[in-house]
Amino acid sequence: MRVTSRFARHCAVLTAGLATAAALTACGSPTEDDGTVSIVASTNVWGSVASAVAGPDAQVTSIISDPAADPHSFETSATDTAKITDADLVVFNGGHYDEFIEKAIDGKDKRTVEAFEQRTDKNDDNEHLWYDIPTVAAVADQIATQLGEVDTAHAAAYTERATTFKNQLIGISTITVAIATQHPNAPVAQSEPLAHYLLVAATAQDKTPHEFQEAIEQETDPAPAAVAATRDLISEKQVKALIYNIQTQDKITQDLRATAQAAGIPVVEVTETLPDGVDYVQWQTANAKALAAALR
Ligand SMILES: [Zn+2]
Repeated sequence: MRVTSRFARHCAVLTAGLATAAALTACGSPTEDDGTVSIVASTNVWGSVASAVAGPDAQVTSIISDPAADPHSFETSATDTAKITDADLVVFNGGHYDEFIEKAIDGKDKRTVEAFEQRTDKNDDNEHLWYDIPTVAAVADQIATQLGEVDTAHAAAYTERATTFKNQLIGISTITVAIATQHPNAPVAQSEPLAHYLLVAATAQDKTPHEFQEAIEQETDPAPAAVAATRDLISEKQVKALIYNIQTQDKITQDLRATAQAAGIPVVEVTETLPDGVDYVQWQTANAKALAAALR
């Protein structure tokens, strides 16, 4: 049952979170006030964006780094909460995605950068904003502004690194523009509305039935008819690719994947958090390239 499996996963996330917190503490706590500017990010995705701007002038700690974790409904340990409340700057997603941050800073006068507030399309409520390159650019600028206020001596360096980072983002947009030009309005399906903004940038049309996505978002079991309709999209090859979140798999989505493989439909794997060994730009460049390859 979907609800049970998701809750079970959240418990696993909690355990993983504790292990991560312990690992981070072992690597040196940023909460000791040694004068170094400290940034806490909700996930290693926003942590990577923050690191690109911080460079050697500030220390970044990400609360969620486990690639097997699902940040939705994550709950913090006391250690995590202390890290968040002690940070000079808190960088998070917002839009009910990483509510553990909002809980930790509630009632406290914290300096924050919230991606949801920076989003470029205020009419779009999809919370997976790190797939939206213009929003990520705005977040990088905000991080530079906030760090420059905390640490005026390095203000110019923060701004310079934000500019370098934004120039790297252009490379990602170049790939999605090429997809939009070469394969406009390509029909695709998604196991979850995770890479929504990547698809928007590439003008790919998400054909997944609204009912199916709604159920997945609400963490309930989709109606059998919605599951069947989604399955048919794939088995009847009405879509050119399946965008697949490997971090929130269950029987229904695994069946979709198997259906895609049997039908010869390319599967583009996406995640909520940053995979090991890559930074934000490398990761999103690879995601855009994978979509381009699937639609070719
Ligand atoms: Zn999600």
